[in-house]
Amino acid sequence: MFVNKNYRPFEEKVWLAKPFMHGPEQTYMTEAYETNWMTTAGKNIEEVERLTAEKIGIKYCVGLSAGTAALHMALKLAGEAVYGKPKIGFGALFQKKVFCSDCTFDASCNPIVYEGGIPVFIDTEYETWNMDPEALAKAFKLYPEVKIVVIVHLYGTPAKMDEIKAVCDKNGAVMIEDATESFGAVYRGRQTGSLGMAGCLSANGNKIITGTAGGMLVTNSFEASRKVKKWSTQSREDAPWYQHEELGYNYRMSNVVAGVLRGQFPYLEEHIALKKRIYERYKKGLEGLPVSMNPYDEKNSEPNFWLSCMLIKPEAMCKQVRGERDSCYVPEHGKSCPTEILEAMGFIRAEGRPIWKPMHMQPIYRRNEFIGREGSCLGSSSLDVGMDIFNRGLCLPSHVKMTGEEQNRIIEVIRACFE
Ligand SMILES: *Cc1c(COP(=O)(O)O)cnc(C)c1O
Repeated sequence: MFVNKNYRPFEEKVWLAKPFMHGPEQTYMTEAYETNWMTTAGKNIEEVERLTAEKIGIKYCVGLSAGTAALHMALKLAGEAVYGKPKIGFGALFQKKVFCSDCTFDASCNPIVYEGGIPVFIDTEYETWNMDPEALAKAFKLYPEVKIVVIVHLYGTPAKMDEIKAVCDKNGAVMIEDATESFGAVYRGRQTGSLGMAGCLSANGNKIITGTAGGMLVTNSFEASRKVKKWSTQSREDAPWYQHEELGYNYRMSNVVAGVLRGQFPYLEEHIALKKRIYERYKKGLEGLPVSMNPYDEKNSEPNFWLSCMLIKPEAMCKQVRGERDSCYVPEHGKSCPTEILEAMGFIRAEGRPIWKPMHMQPIYRRNEFIGREGSCLGSSSLDVGMDIFNRGLCLPSHVKMTGEEQNRIIEVIRACFE
């Protein structure tokens, strides 16, 4: 339980994640301004696409307005590849089930619904906090007709891709990677985003590098990249007038946004190194407490350490109850819970956050199916890994500019919660 020893609050709030500018961003933005390329075309976009494709090790990249737009385009691509071109108004996934990671942000699965599909959520495993290949295998037993799987690399930690890919291959399904949180993370020598039919990246303000907003779709198919470029610019056909044969979207990246992102590229590896140092400092600082850090496969993967998280051991949890919008807990000596720790960190103006609430627990998706290792269920299961991690875990302040001193003070407050 938190013993408040009048910890001094930070003068400036310590954020979970925030942008970190270096200088070149302004140069490229200004260049767009001065050359009057203040639109959704220009040198910055071309460079961002080239740099992204090069970094991910994939042939083609399309710059888009957001990671969510990239996911939407990826699902439309997959839908049309598997089910053919839809009638206008029906969506490429009309009434089709799509398997999706359960423990994620809702932008991973909303685009399934944009295309008329039905997300079926696959439970999480404890080793990387990503989609459980065993649960996925179970899902294919129940629904062998499913052909598209959306896989998320949560908090920058690569999922168990070999196992997941084996299950997908066996069932003739394609993978779409939501690598929006894991830009720069590596799985067995390959970048996340390069392992499926299409990879989706984000340049949102809280991600590892940013353009203030923006997203990128990467693919090895020239045809697919052409389609996405066309769809994202209102599906204009090659004609002297506005000619349309397909439904269009206004999803292209702005050349100003691309200027910011272009300027951030040289610092991606530096940001990853800083994030890793933050993770290691927490790991060391929390030693001896009944907690662990968000885990990863140390042999096969190198995360980008976007967010540091911790998980409290079941026996060290005090009573905590969460409603739809609020939560409460009963303080207990020697124990704590995410609600108490977040409250204690709030006292010193450090921003933490609960683990992303699993999709099958969200009111909007409560009636969608959720499949775990033990089978399918609507609602809760005897084994519900996502819910368990949500109950016992939390995200720690992890922004790249955080100092060692700030981190020590946060660790001290977390320690006080277990007194
Ligand atoms: C941020 C995020 C997205 C969406 O990216 P935007 O660029 O914000 O649209 C999608 N999925 C996950 C897991 C994310 O964290």
